[in-house]
Amino acid sequence: MTSANQTLFEKSQQLIPGGVNSPVRAFRSVGGTPIFFKKGLGAKLWDVDGKEYIDYINSWGPMIVGHAHPDVISAVQAVAANSLSFGAPTGLELEMATLINKLVPSMEQVRLVSSGTEATMSAIRVARGFTGRNKLVKFEGCYHGHSDALLVKAGSGLLTFGEPSSAGVPAEVAAHTLTLEYNNTQQLKELFAKAGDEIACVIIEPVVGNMNLVVPHMEFLQALRELCTQHGAVLIFDEVMTGFRVHLGGAQALYGIKPDMTTLGKVIGGGLPVGAFGGRKDIMQCLAPLGAVYQAGTLSGNPVAVTAGLETLKLIQAPDFHTKLAAKTKKLVDVLVSAAKEAGVVFSAQSVGGMFGLYFSEQCPSSFAEVMQTNKENFNLFFHSMLGDGVYLGPSAFEAGFVSAAHTDEDIDFTLQAAKKAFLAIASR
Ligand SMILES: *Cc1c(COP(=O)(O)O)cnc(C)c1O
Repeated sequence: MTSANQTLFEKSQQLIPGGVNSPVRAFRSVGGTPIFFKKGLGAKLWDVDGKEYIDYINSWGPMIVGHAHPDVISAVQAVAANSLSFGAPTGLELEMATLINKLVPSMEQVRLVSSGTEATMSAIRVARGFTGRNKLVKFEGCYHGHSDALLVKAGSGLLTFGEPSSAGVPAEVAAHTLTLEYNNTQQLKELFAKAGDEIACVIIEPVVGNMNLVVPHMEFLQALRELCTQHGAVLIFDEVMTGFRVHLGGAQALYGIKPDMTTLGKVIGGGLPVGAFGGRKDIMQCLAPLGAVYQAGTLSGNPVAVTAGLETLKLIQAPDFHTKLAAKTKKLVDVLVSAAKEAGVVFSAQSVGGMFGLYFSEQCPSSFAEVMQTNKENFNLFFHSMLGDGVYLGPSAFEAGFVSAAHTDEDIDFTLQAAKKAFLAIASR
């Protein structure tokens, strides 16, 4: 008999390109059929055929307090009854701006948008307007959403023009984007020495969660901060994934480095579409209606979405929330590392706050090139074995994983038992 899942996927492919509304959901990297879900509660998910999973994707980060948290759901229901949207200011937006400024003080002023893509795209526009410069610097393996200027890969050498990494992006747009290697301080210094005064901004994931998990070297982040200050370039921390997840104050609080601008998304909407960008007041004042940089949004600051975010941010301010989340996530990676060792499988893993990375390699990678060298075949075997046993991991060796406050010791033990089986299968190949 064909499963409900299979039927949905086949029909979806007729009407939706690839059957999905975002490419990573398509399981192209691991093979097989994407799972269609109908329910989530806490750390658990149920698919359309009724199978249960422990969720380590958490909607790619937002569900940090677990699925369908009663406080979030009831707040959303209550506010929805007063209309879904006004297209005019509300007190909720002030509440959100106040809270962002309290938790991430480098965000002296903030504007709300509806996605991480919008946040980074807008932050870059403001940085360019503020500096009057065009060049944008980013790092290989970091993802900052899908706006044209960011779908760019490195040209043939340092300082050559960037090339589009997607069809449909004009070469002229890509030409302004320079891509460097993550954690390569030397390369960064060379670029600034040659072209520092042409750089409008540098955008970076301060902990990378979009090429699996890659942790920054402290001296790299420090050099980045110093070079941007020296040359008047705007340093943008893209904390869409790390914000409120690696620490209550984001990666900037964890590492003690203050960016000029920050972008937020994911956790800030608690599962509904919210993004934010903000930073130094002198930069943010370049935005319309005060300044000459245009940016707008019909649903920006939407009351229902902002309420889901506010309620989530209230919950994560509980005492020791992040300490407990980090300890739980570390426990997960530690037990997986020992299980792999016992089975004789080459494997490493690490965590930062509530984010983790699993790698089929001797050591945790620290650049895109190193991530590319991990054993993808073993990852795919691991992924499918775990999925079969009811553990839902990111469907690619190039995605980080996420733990929520709802994950229990029992969930971690269940995951470990499934992993032992998966590692044994890999070892006996
Ligand atoms: C997810 C993500 C984005 C894009 O956010 P969307 O809401 O998917 O547009 C941007 N930057 C980082 C670091 C992300 O993880």
